[in-house]
Amino acid sequence: LKANNARSLWHPMTAPADSLSTPPTIVTGASGVRIRDIDGHEVVDAVGGLWNVNLGYSCQPVKDAIASQLEALPYYSIFRGTSNDKVIELAEDLRDFFAPDGLERAFFTSGGSDSVETALRLARQYHKIRGEAGRVKYLSLKKGYHGTHTGGASVNGNANFRTAYEPLLPGCHHIPAPYTYRNPFNETDPARLAQLCLQALEDEIAFQGAGTIAAFIMEPILGAGGVIPPHPSFMPGVEAICRKNGILLIADEVITAFGRTGAWTGSRLWGVKPDFACTAKAITNGYFPFGAVMISGAVAEVFERDATGKAAIGHGYTYSGHPVGAAAAIACLAETRRLNVTDNAAARGAELFDGLKALQARHAVIGDVRGGHGLMCALELVADRATKAPADKATTARVQETAYRAGAMVRVSGPNIILSPPLVLTSADVQTILTALDAGFAAL
Ligand code: PMP
Repeated sequence: LKANNARSLWHPMTAPADSLSTPPTIVTGASGVRIRDIDGHEVVDAVGGLWNVNLGYSCQPVKDAIASQLEALPYYSIFRGTSNDKVIELAEDLRDFFAPDGLERAFFTSGGSDSVETALRLARQYHKIRGEAGRVKYLSLKKGYHGTHTGGASVNGNANFRTAYEPLLPGCHHIPAPYTYRNPFNETDPARLAQLCLQALEDEIAFQGAGTIAAFIMEPILGAGGVIPPHPSFMPGVEAICRKNGILLIADEVITAFGRTGAWTGSRLWGVKPDFACTAKAITNGYFPFGAVMISGAVAEVFERDATGKAAIGHGYTYSGHPVGAAAAIACLAETRRLNVTDNAAARGAELFDGLKALQARHAVIGDVRGGHGLMCALELVADRATKAPADKATTARVQETAYRAGAMVRVSGPNIILSPPLVLTSADVQTILTALDAGFAAL
């Protein structure tokens, strides 16, 4: 397996230069919040798969739901005028779950990138139906991550996911993120920074012309860009600016929906009602590739009331509304509620955040600690605290490798160590992660 791993499997996001020491870990088993590798080493998965395994790896109700759905109906399409019973049941569940966010209708996809693409495309179509065909541009945040399809990559705010694939969609413009540690305004006060970023958004809208912009897309807490929680005033400010200018607001909740932030959704954390919420990942907890775009009643109505034929939807996927995925998602939603993972995410997240701040007090390499909203945290490593020069790859790799040997799988993204463990972890698991990281920093 080890030889074939290097010979035939391409690890597309691990360029050879990135794998400084150990070859990729080969995971062969998992249970609870732990994964086991080919050498029998078992660690707490502080990455939670890839921000998606919220309920851990041993969720029996989900396994049972998948097994019985495979027997009852393994597949049927929801296009060409057909539907399937499981997907209707799930749409009703999601409608209840997202009711406080003002989102009523579900458009099903096969994952996060598909969900983003769906929202971006439907946003343009919405404006066309309403006779505003000139609204085709998209605005988003620098450091935002929105998947790897061409639309998502175009609104992506990180060069390393864009430049190799250019030219991307024209008309995509990026606003500074409210990233307190580094920003073009040199502003360290989060409330004032939020105001400056909102002003930048207003300026960009004025510069582009409000009537040319279809949608603004943002993650309620930026994830892959390094866990950047905005000040509480920021997303409501974005919502108000979008409303004022007729721009649709797309919340990319691929990471934040279903409890990760300590609230049921990221939009609810900030008290925002978006027009679209893109979901995937934890909707099936890693048991099935699946996603859903939740759509507000007002937007859905524009499609449904249209008599011109412009609302015919030429968008969707073979596996949209897959009944096995739907069965998995129904069971995951039920477990998410039954276990009240949101409260556990908030409580364990606070312990983790405090522990990370204590590590920062002892290890100079930790320039910034971000989190404070559930189980989404990051440590930004620096070569020098005064200049904030980012730590090099050898440093982050060393911390990751040592932490792994000491009992926790963590994720590296640029100079950041990112933590997004399952929401069902215990205080003891939190301590395991902190102790392993401490060993990682001590090894530098
Ligand atoms: N949006 C966000 C916010 C994400 O974090 C991700 C995945 N990390 C995506 C979209 C893309 O999701 P997927 O990898 O399932 O296509």
